[in-house]
Amino acid sequence: MITEHLTQASYLLAATLFILSLRWLSHPSTARRGVAAGVAGMAAAIVGTLLHPGLGYGWIAAAMVVGTVIGVPLSMVPLTAVPQRTALSHAFGGLAAALVGTAEYYLGLSGGNELTPFRTGALAAEVILGGLTFTGSLMAAGKLQEIVPTRPITYRGQNVINLGLLAVAVASAVYLVMHPELSVLFLVILVLSLVFGVLLIIPIGGADMPTVISLLNSYAGLSAVAMGFVLDNKVLIVAGALDGSSGLILSIIMCKAMNRSFTNVLFGAFGQVQAAGAAGEAKTAKSGTPRDAADLLENAGSVVIVPGYGMAVAQAQHRVREIYDQLSKRGIDVKFAIHPVAGRMPGHMNVLLAEAELPYDALVEMDDINHDLPQTDVVLVVGANDVVNPAARHDKASPIYGMPIIDADKAKACIAIKRSMNPGFAGIENELYYADNTLMVFGDAKGVLGDVVKELSGESGGIH
Ligand code: NAP
Repeated sequence: MITEHLTQASYLLAATLFILSLRWLSHPSTARRGVAAGVAGMAAAIVGTLLHPGLGYGWIAAAMVVGTVIGVPLSMVPLTAVPQRTALSHAFGGLAAALVGTAEYYLGLSGGNELTPFRTGALAAEVILGGLTFTGSLMAAGKLQEIVPTRPITYRGQNVINLGLLAVAVASAVYLVMHPELSVLFLVILVLSLVFGVLLIIPIGGADMPTVISLLNSYAGLSAVAMGFVLDNKVLIVAGALDGSSGLILSIIMCKAMNRSFTNVLFGAFGQVQAAGAAGEAKTAKSGTPRDAADLLENAGSVVIVPGYGMAVAQAQHRVREIYDQLSKRGIDVKFAIHPVAGRMPGHMNVLLAEAELPYDALVEMDDINHDLPQTDVVLVVGANDVVNPAARHDKASPIYGMPIIDADKAKACIAIKRSMNPGFAGIENELYYADNTLMVFGDAKGVLGDVVKELSGESGGIH
C-alpha cells in the first residue's frame, strides 16, 4: 500500500516536472533548466514504475542494457543529423506502444485483464497509432538520411487508397470492441497500421520531413496516452498528452513559418519539381575576399548576422562569435536575425549560437528585426539561402512564394558566405546573390570567417 502511494507521488512529481520542463524550454535563458527538469521528471517516473510490486527486474535490466547500447551512440550524432535521430526515437516509442498493446491484448484473451469495450478500444487506438508511428518514423528517418528516395513517390488514387486503408483499420477496431475475441481482427489492425505508416510518408518529399517528424511526434504522444489508459498509468497519460499537443503545436508553427498548410504538407508532394533558375540568363555575382568583407564590416555602424544551415554544416558558430566580439569591441552594433525555419530543425540556430555563448539579447526573431534592416549598414549572411530569398516575396511561381523571409536585400550592403552558387534546401536560385549591393565570399563558412577574424584582429600579417 505504501509503495502504491510512493508510486503515485513520483508520478505526480514527474508530471509536474514535465510541465515545468516544457515551460522552461520555451526560452533560451531557461532552456538548460528545462532539460534538467525533463530528465528529473523521467527519473521520477522510472523510479515510481520500478516500485510496482511483482515486476520482472531481470527483464527490465536486460531491456535497459539494450536501450543503452542503442541510445548512447544515437546521442552522439552531429547536430545536423538530429532530425533523423529524433525520427528514430519516435519509431522506438511507436514500436513500444504497439508491442505493449499486442502483449496486453493477448494477455486479455488468455484470461488476464478483462477486455472491456473501453480497454479494447484503447488497445486498438494504441496499436494503430503506435504501428503507423513506427513505420512512418522509420521511413522519415530513411528519407532524411537519404537511404530511401527523398523525392515524393506518388501514384493515381494514392490519397483514396491511404484513407481507405485507415478506414478499414478503424472499422476493424470498432468491430473488435464489440467482439474482442476475434483475434484475427487485431492482426488486421496491426498489419494495416504498419502498412499505413509507410504509405503515409512515401508521397511526402524530403523537404517536408522535419514538419512530418514533428507530426509523428504528436502521434507517438497520442499512442502513449492510449497506452496509459490500457495500463491505467496516469503519468503516461499526462506525458503522452503533453507530447501529443506540443508536437502538433510545433508542426503548426513550422507550417506557418514556411507558409504551408497541413494538407499541403501531407498531400502536396512538395519538392517534386524544383528546377533551379531560368536557362539562358547570364547573371553574374560580385565576389570578394575575406579582406573585402572585413573592410565592409569594420566601416559599418550596424551589422546584422543571418545564420543558416551552412553555418551548422561548417560548425562555424564559434567563428561567428569571434566576429561578434571583434565588431562589438569597435562599438559596432551587432545583432543576429533568427528565422524560425533556418537550418533543418526548429531552434537549430538558437542551439548553435547558445553553444558559442552569444548573449541571448543579441538574437532577434525575424518579425522583430525586419523593420530595422533598411537602416542596417551590413547584413552578413552565413550559409543561409532560402530564408533570405526575396523570391518568396514576389515570385508567385516560386515554391517558397509566401514564406516569410529575413529582408537581407533591403540592407545598405550584404555579404553572403557560402561555398558556391548552388541552391539551398528548396532547390532554387537566390537573386540576393546577384544584387548590386551583395558581395559573395566563397568558401567553407568556418574557413572564411576565420580569415575575416584574422583580418579584423590584424593577425593576417597583411597578406590579402
Ligand atoms: P538552405 O536554404 O538550405 O541553404 C543553406 C546554404 O548553406 C546552401 O545554399 C549551401 O550553399 C550553404 N552551405 C552548406 N554548407 C556550407 C558550408 N560548409 N559553408 C558555407 N556554406 C555552406 O538553408 P536556410 O537558409 O537555413 O533555410 C532552411 C531551409 O530548410 C528552408 O527552405 C526551410 O523551409 C527548410 N526547412 C527547415 C526546417 C526547420 O525546422 N529549420 C524544417 C523544414 C524545412 P553551398 O552549397 O553553395 O555552400
